[in-house]
Amino acid sequence: MEHLIYNGRVVMPQQTVTADILVRDGKIVQVEKNIPREGRQVYDASGCLVFPGFIDAHTHLQMDNGVTVTADDFASGTIAALCGGTTTLLDFATQDPGDTLSHALQTWHSRADGHCSCDYGFHMAIVDWTPAVSQEVQEMVEAGVTSFKLYMAYDNLRVSDREIYEILKRVGEFHGIVGAHCENGDLVNALVAEYLERGDTSPKYHPLSRPDFVEAEAVSRYCYLATAAGVPIHIVHLSTRLGLEEARRARTRGQRVYLETCPQYLTLEDSVYDQGFESAKFVCSPPIRKGRDQSALWQAISQGEIDSISTDHCSFNMNGQKDLGRDNFSRIPNGMPGLEHRPAVIYTHGVTKGRLTVNQMAALLAENAARLFGLYPRKGVIAPGSDADLVIWDPSISWTITAKNQHHHCDNTPYEGMPMQGRAKAVFLRGTLAAEDGEPVQTGLGIYIPRKESEYF
Ligand code: MN
Ligand code: MN
Repeated sequence: MEHLIYNGRVVMPQQTVTADILVRDGKIVQVEKNIPREGRQVYDASGCLVFPGFIDAHTHLQMDNGVTVTADDFASGTIAALCGGTTTLLDFATQDPGDTLSHALQTWHSRADGHCSCDYGFHMAIVDWTPAVSQEVQEMVEAGVTSFKLYMAYDNLRVSDREIYEILKRVGEFHGIVGAHCENGDLVNALVAEYLERGDTSPKYHPLSRPDFVEAEAVSRYCYLATAAGVPIHIVHLSTRLGLEEARRARTRGQRVYLETCPQYLTLEDSVYDQGFESAKFVCSPPIRKGRDQSALWQAISQGEIDSISTDHCSFNMNGQKDLGRDNFSRIPNGMPGLEHRPAVIYTHGVTKGRLTVNQMAALLAENAARLFGLYPRKGVIAPGSDADLVIWDPSISWTITAKNQHHHCDNTPYEGMPMQGRAKAVFLRGTLAAEDGEPVQTGLGIYIPRKESEYF
């Protein structure tokens, strides 16, 4: 079956052109002006931008933090993704201590396969580094898991500096990319204990226990460990000006560092922690930062220093989950939803405010992650041969985010009441109209996408 999406402003990496897109068997076959419409199923994209399907390279769906499981599973999370314009996501499969990577991968497949409404792949978080796990790295790469994740904080997840160094070298043999959660875990533990001992237990002490230098120190250390191992690295959810400055220093030395930030660090400020226990919904790590951090990140985005914007979607309900930490902020499950709203939040706060072009938005929300994580050119670009993952974006729609009508299976959103400009009018997943006007049309079409080695190694 052939589809023709005609008359849209097609957002290419370097330019935006009015063109028609011919789709056959789920793939883009032609991007040209004036492709004949006769005998083809047509979609009129007049007045709209056409983006490549957005990629969210940082989600936690059906994740058990040891106390409770995220509000969104793969079914609800991928429907929400699709409705907002995200057609591929990369979730973090996570090794259990003492267990194998292959069992973790099997577990994540069993949670996702057959339940997803957008396409998906997995990073593998290495938690327990042993010679046997080192052997498994090759098997992961052969299974299409070419990126790995390390934690420098959280006692149940983090690895030592020596382990980071060894993992970077081993994964580097396969040209895989390792991303890290950069916070100094020992320092966080010490600061949390100090606040709790003083009886400072409310959510407002969460950001105070994880100040900007906690991130910057870990960013700096991770960069030096990568230099020792001789490999490029990825830093997830960069949130501070100080951390950015450390990454810049490493780049100046010649270290290749790829940077991700998230919409919450670009649009919210730490005054969100002044609302008593309601602030628990903003408890995530790293925490929401100060205005000076936000402006440094936007400036870095305009200058092309940030490579991607993903969500760190990790949703918990206020009722029954976040309130586990009512008497102790360190027991509040960390994380917030965002998967559905990332494209609109970035379009509204980025494009309409002149902070980035639509071409930069396509790079930050799709193309760069596709290249970094071995999905390109199947995903991340509108070009002949690529999957027909297409977002018809209507810049004229004004709407407001509210938890009441979101598709996240969650009772809150950090963007409650935030006015939006622009929205995904139609979302095509491999050529099929899968969502329209923010609502699902066809669910359950998502498939696992095995990935190649990173293009940026
Ligand atoms: Mn993290
Ligand atoms: Mn995360």
